[in-house]
Amino acid sequence: MQPRDLSELSPYVPGRGAEEVARDLGMDPGDLTKLSSNENPHGPGPAAVEAIRETAPTVGVYPKASHTDLGEKLAAYWGVTPEQIWVTPGADGALDYLSRAFLDPGDRVLAPDPGFSYYRMSARYHHGEVATYDLSKADDFVQTPATVLDAYDGERIVYLTTPHNPTGAELARAAIVDLAEAVADRTLLVVDEAYGEYTESPSAIDLLDDHDNVAVTRTFSKAYGLAGLRVGYGVVPEAWADAYARVNTPFAASEVGCRAALAALDDDDHLERTVETARWARTYLRENLDAPTWESGGNFVLAAVGDASAVAEATQRRGVIVRDCSSFGLPDCIRVSCGTRESTPRAVETINDVLAEVRT
Ligand SMILES: *Cc1c(COP(=O)(O)O)cnc(C)c1O
Repeated sequence: MQPRDLSELSPYVPGRGAEEVARDLGMDPGDLTKLSSNENPHGPGPAAVEAIRETAPTVGVYPKASHTDLGEKLAAYWGVTPEQIWVTPGADGALDYLSRAFLDPGDRVLAPDPGFSYYRMSARYHHGEVATYDLSKADDFVQTPATVLDAYDGERIVYLTTPHNPTGAELARAAIVDLAEAVADRTLLVVDEAYGEYTESPSAIDLLDDHDNVAVTRTFSKAYGLAGLRVGYGVVPEAWADAYARVNTPFAASEVGCRAALAALDDDDHLERTVETARWARTYLRENLDAPTWESGGNFVLAAVGDASAVAEATQRRGVIVRDCSSFGLPDCIRVSCGTRESTPRAVETINDVLAEVRT
């Protein structure tokens, strides 16, 4: 027996984990600096950790109130109705739920290239077809309405990422409005704001008041430091918010995840510290890496280093894990996540040492 033809579905290539690399190298995971998955180098905040502890004894029952509470809290935060908040297992879950709600077999989506691979994967899981729009390195990966519209051909879903992973480039809010007005009525714009906390630009969520073809995805994995718990959400227009009930996997967002997310939303200090460190680190990376880099609105910086796979392997042997961007179609670039004020300079030194060796 065989599964269906999965040849169009390529496995997600994550940044390598510290434990995995430590095992390979015979090192202690504590000696590694992991800057490959854009995680929060401070981890979760103390309030979230406390909530996780407190929730432990109750995980024998299915989640109920926590999910409702989180939806309501996020709705109040963003000034939308609770129905407009789709709480999901990670923002990846929100991308999936939108695919479930919008794609008929054979429908096409339009995704950025380079870009986050899960847009394409999710569409294909749901029997959709994938087209791409190019973000050009020669143009510093700039994102404008024209970059998208030149490739647009009536697709059912168009994915926008701002700040963009892995380039860091942003899409101006006016450009999102232009796109929402330029595309056909049946086209949904998904604005992925996984790194929204790190930018100075406002969220696109308030566009939902006037545009029923825009949805925004956000996550607790990045700035809130809860990647291991898998909590994210979509914010959708009121007009079709009720589709959630029909596409939601029962109890998909866990009790521990929702409780931790609720606590994290009240922990302004941790978020402020996180964002401040990331903004400092991305400036530090840009000023001190001996390689061309791009301006970033996220908690990472893209750097052109020549042979990215060789450079990433060499830094890893010295305990610094960065993301080789070959799987994004950028075989000459690495993406370096923002670390702490201690780990970032050490990582830069290691990367620069490797670059100096590779170049001689
Ligand atoms: C990390 C990331 C996500 C979502 O991550 P989850 O852990 O599933 O919430 C979504 N989009 C982009 C561009 C990302 O980098």
